[in-house]
Amino acid sequence: ILNHRDFGETDLLVTLFTKSFGKVPVVARRAKMPNSKFSSGVQLLNKVKVSIGRGRNLDHLNECEIIDSFQIIKSNLTLLSKGLFSSELVVNFIQDRTPNIQIFNALEQNLNNLETQKNIDQSMIWFQLQLINVSGVFPEFMVCINCNENLKRKDHVFYSEIGGINCDNCINVNADLYHGVTILEDSLGFLRHIQRVIRSSKPYFFDKYLDDNTLNDLNKFLRIYLTYTAERQMKSIKFLDLVN
Ligand SMILES: [Zn+2]
Repeated sequence: ILNHRDFGETDLLVTLFTKSFGKVPVVARRAKMPNSKFSSGVQLLNKVKVSIGRGRNLDHLNECEIIDSFQIIKSNLTLLSKGLFSSELVVNFIQDRTPNIQIFNALEQNLNNLETQKNIDQSMIWFQLQLINVSGVFPEFMVCINCNENLKRKDHVFYSEIGGINCDNCINVNADLYHGVTILEDSLGFLRHIQRVIRSSKPYFFDKYLDDNTLNDLNKFLRIYLTYTAERQMKSIKFLDLVN
């Protein structure tokens, strides 16, 4: 359950993220009524098994059985905020009714890691990087965006607008850029490692240890880059959903 909102007096419009059909909006009829059979099932972040009835305009929920309600996440504000942030990203980055098994598995894995409190920060970062990759906006960290020369092993300023870094020789090429963020040498080393992994498209198990400094730095970069791309992405998703 990615999110839900009021739909008339008694119903909820629920966004499901399904393995087979991708992101699907469904109406949970009378879900706001006391003793509704859906009230506990459609809680945010729940992993559920559902049966859906086809409607003329909107499909509706027939059955909703909880498989995992992630009680530990929901009892801890920090974990909850991370869980909700993850599902919000899927809402914003993934278009409706398009199966996306990679992100489905990535979200499930991330929620499981939050629930078992296993490498939470690493898990959140890996989830966000996978989402960026699947959305087709994974940046370039190895070479200069302008001249294609290998970047030196040092701190660099990353610009969201160009999805990469200008080397020292090209630093004045894009003087009008302002979504810049400094990425530290160690963080860039890690991001290059991920870029190689993604390009090789081999199965990859994220188990890399990252120190606090690198984690903070990566989080700062992701915050800025995701905010920037989400704004552009949301417009294109809305357009895609509109025409499909
Ligand atoms: Zn250059």
